[in-house]
Amino acid sequence: MHDASQASSVKYFAPMDGWTAEKVFSSTVFGFTYDDLILMPGHIDFGIHEVDLRSRLTKNISLNTPVVSSPMDTVTEHKMAIACALMGGIGIIHNNLTIAQQAKEVSRVKRFENGFIMDPSVLGPENTIADLDEIKKVHGHSSVPITSTGKMGGKLIGIVTNRDIDFISDRSIKLSSVMTTDLVTGSEPITLAEANSILRESKKGKLPIVNDASELVALISRNDLVKNKEYPLSSKHTNKQLLVGAAISTRADEEGRAKALIDAGVDVLVVDSSQGDSVFQSDLISRLKSNFPSIEIIGGNVVSGRQAKTLLGVGADGLRIGMGSGSICTTQEVTAVGRAQGTAVYHVSKYAKEHFDVPCIADGGIQNSGHVMKALAMGASTVMVGSMFAGTEETPGQYFFHNAVRVKNYRGMGSLAAMKDSEIARTRTFDDRVSLPMTNFSEGSVCRYFAEHSSVKVAQGVSGAVVDKGSIKALVPHVMQGVRHGMQDLGCRNIPDLHSKLYNGLLTMDVRSGAAQKEGGIHDLIAL
Ligand code: GDP
Ligand code: GDP
Ligand code: 5GP
Repeated sequence: MHDASQASSVKYFAPMDGWTAEKVFSSTVFGFTYDDLILMPGHIDFGIHEVDLRSRLTKNISLNTPVVSSPMDTVTEHKMAIACALMGGIGIIHNNLTIAQQAKEVSRVKRFENGFIMDPSVLGPENTIADLDEIKKVHGHSSVPITSTGKMGGKLIGIVTNRDIDFISDRSIKLSSVMTTDLVTGSEPITLAEANSILRESKKGKLPIVNDASELVALISRNDLVKNKEYPLSSKHTNKQLLVGAAISTRADEEGRAKALIDAGVDVLVVDSSQGDSVFQSDLISRLKSNFPSIEIIGGNVVSGRQAKTLLGVGADGLRIGMGSGSICTTQEVTAVGRAQGTAVYHVSKYAKEHFDVPCIADGGIQNSGHVMKALAMGASTVMVGSMFAGTEETPGQYFFHNAVRVKNYRGMGSLAAMKDSEIARTRTFDDRVSLPMTNFSEGSVCRYFAEHSSVKVAQGVSGAVVDKGSIKALVPHVMQGVRHGMQDLGCRNIPDLHSKLYNGLLTMDVRSGAAQKEGGIHDLIAL
């Protein structure tokens, strides 16, 4: 657009009040990143509790917390995705897994919380306690409705919960002799709110829902009400299941993986490629969009308008911005291709918004709440993090001690270790170590760097360890409170307001010199 002195409302005057993003990013040949920039304060006329961080992930998915955990094999499997969705963000399950494993990770997230459970585990009166033990082992829940047929749709005749079987040592006893038959039920038609209120009043753990013929049609669980109360920001889709995404590669036969993930209930697919402007990716998105029109697809990675045009032109619902900006990334040194992240986020987000109204994710290089604030202020709608979440309880892998410090592994998906695992050890998750047949390799991280057909593998990432950071359930609220303070200082109540000020010139900034960056960090202090 134009600089601040020409802005229509003429509120700010460059250089006295800083420079518009248009001026900063268009009047120089330099690329800037987050640390190069500092935002000018605005006018505060609201409290911090009024700041709303709700934002769009894709055309049709919004999040209460604008954070996405990266599809990396040391960051996001089901535990991270569940915690992230409970915090109001979303996790993207990595694809250094077989199709079956990745789909299972997705369905573990989808089953974690429910409104009506439409396909609950059900047993019959002739089943034994041992059968219930098996369900507990495989699925994690131990309450099952008992129907005449042992299936959904059979006549409801009882329920067995933990309390009915806890102290019975003979596990071959039939469920008919331990089940509770004096049942509180809900009858169809019933809304979730009505069913929840019967459940609350009954003080029971589960409420089976039946039709006119007393046949079981659904189940609801008290624990889900507790989860809903405990995590009010949770990202949920229809029927109150948590939102989850999954990464796919650009391999020609990747539609099979996409279909398995969609069948498992995935809400968004992320095409994982370090250079998104390829015929492989645009063909894949076109095919997926015509075969599965309702699935949301995020394309990437891109750092220029030209790349963005290719993916938006074939229908991408969101874009992932970043090339070489990740903390474990060596792409810019190895290939000499990439872009400074602040400049990339500004130009791509602006292009995607103006021409397609598609939201963008700023991916990589986020180290603190200030970086999240700057990414959003450059036009991103959400941020994707790897290293910020690495080392938390929810990441895959075990803690170990290094020089007396408790650490966990964190590695780039283009590191030799990750590429090797994607080719050889694709049969297991970090956590489960479950043995599966060596089939269905999608060569996830090898494909990300288009290295699947090369005999010489060149790493574009490194591998290392990060210190124990505790749970993201403490980390995310802390980081987001920092962002709320930033929003308040800027005088912006919400992200749409921030973005309109970015584009109409009311948001201004300065480029910092090296000395100014030093001044902005901690200095002249002796560490104790
Ligand atoms: P319980 O051991 O069956 O009493 O399980 P909890 O009440 O502690 O938690 C059950 C959790 O698993 C809830 O959040 C449910 O939404 C979820 N869940 C998902 N599928 C099923 C299912 O088939 N049966 C049951 N009982 N819970 C399920
Ligand atoms: P919400 O409370 O913001 O989700 O608003 P809705 O109007 O969509 O909720 C309808 C009912 O579902 C209310 O009684 C909510 O308390 C309840 N609810 C929300 N999440 C869950 C959940 O995960 N499980 C169950 N059983 N009920 C839920
Ligand atoms: P971080 O949050 O650690 O700064 O960056 C995470 C992002 O770096 C990921 O979301 C992904 O886009 C990118 N990334 C992950 N692994 C690699 C890698 O090995 N090489 C490169 N170039 N980028 C990577």
